Amino acid sequence: MSSETDGRRLPSCDDDGGEPGALSVAEAHARIAASIVPVRGQETVTLRGALGRVLAEDVHTSFDIPPNTNAAMDGFALRGAELDSEGGARLTVVGTAWAGHPLDRGIGPGECARIMTGAPIPAGADTVVMQERTETEGDAVVIRGGKPGSNVRTAGEDLPAGARALAAGTRVRPAELGVLASLGLTEVVVIRRPSVALFATGDELFEPGQPLRPGGLYDSNRYTVWGMLTRLGMAIDDRGHLPDDRAAVEASLMAAAAENDAVITTGGVSVGEADHVGRVLREQGDVGFWRLTMKPGRPLNFGRFGDALFFGLPGNPVSAMVTFYQLVQPALRRLAGAEYRPPETLRARAAVAFPKKPGRTEFQRAILSVARDGTPIVEAGGPQGSGRLTSMARANCFVVIPAQSHGVAADEWVDVQPFEGITG
Ligand code: AMP
Ligand code: MG
Repeated sequence: MSSETDGRRLPSCDDDGGEPGALSVAEAHARIAASIVPVRGQETVTLRGALGRVLAEDVHTSFDIPPNTNAAMDGFALRGAELDSEGGARLTVVGTAWAGHPLDRGIGPGECARIMTGAPIPAGADTVVMQERTETEGDAVVIRGGKPGSNVRTAGEDLPAGARALAAGTRVRPAELGVLASLGLTEVVVIRRPSVALFATGDELFEPGQPLRPGGLYDSNRYTVWGMLTRLGMAIDDRGHLPDDRAAVEASLMAAAAENDAVITTGGVSVGEADHVGRVLREQGDVGFWRLTMKPGRPLNFGRFGDALFFGLPGNPVSAMVTFYQLVQPALRRLAGAEYRPPETLRARAAVAFPKKPGRTEFQRAILSVARDGTPIVEAGGPQGSGRLTSMARANCFVVIPAQSHGVAADEWVDVQPFEGITG
């Protein structure tokens, strides 16, 4: 069992008047979804600079895609009407059409042209018979088994002139980048990247490269969170470490909130003497929620400082990553202009038992793979302590076990979430 929250309860003298109602993960999603408005503002970026960004406007094509009616195969372009009932014909070859070099004449009765894949279909022709069904005899070609109208790609069959190629709100992946390029665009209007300030809190934290002093450990959360923010395409304002000092935490959070769309901290959200983040949010900000019936990740601060969204993630390295993937990732995607979508879940067969006590929804680290017969299989990811970051490094997914469940037996089907989603 994790050590992060075991047995801890809010003291009754706590300044918010006692134990607030803990929220389910589904309720947390609903509250976050309802409270996020995408950032305003757009910018023009270069074509390649659009990768990973979200389109600010619909993109239309002003011309047909593909621009020319062209050959889908290497072979011979001809008039389909020349083919007899068996698809045969004997035609005179009058030239060659190459991709990028259209034939400079049309195809008349009794004629055909050699044609390469992608070459515009010469005027008069409407059919391409593939090379393999032809035999050359001097200046002529004998065709067998041709089909009128076949192997021709019509101009505009992908997108006719005037059509919407991509909708506002679309995230540009390599495929969308290619679609934008096919329209001949060199610049794209995208939504401004949300700017996200990032802090780690804790007197025990040292930066990699520094000598470690007694009682210290290297900060890993600022690296896992930085990595996840980078994958999400956020503009990151890395503000380093905060000491466990009330005044420093308050001043730094307020300053970061004034300059960013969102602020993320790790650590200091429990109820220990040195846990100042939650207190500062309750006193200076607006609290959305802070206790969840999930494991790991029970103490998660969500709220606002002024206009900036705030996520106070737990300090335990696994808890920080789990709460980020579960709740921060969908929130930031929404902030960036996409729809709010909780993590996608698929079903997999448990290769081993996943033990659990009833009470909280558990996100156990596990390894998803596909068996020879195509069945998705999920194996245990090793010891699950919320301080064991290598359990995340070994794993590639969460097994999600519902709050009331007593655990999963081997061979049962379970809900699985790949860390970065299914649709990518
Ligand atoms: P906290 O939530 O601040 O009480 O921290 C819980 C546990 O996570 C403690 O064992 C901390 O030392 C550890 N921890 C907090 N922040 C970090 C960090 N940035 N990197 C690695 N471990 C951390
Ligand atoms: Mg701490």
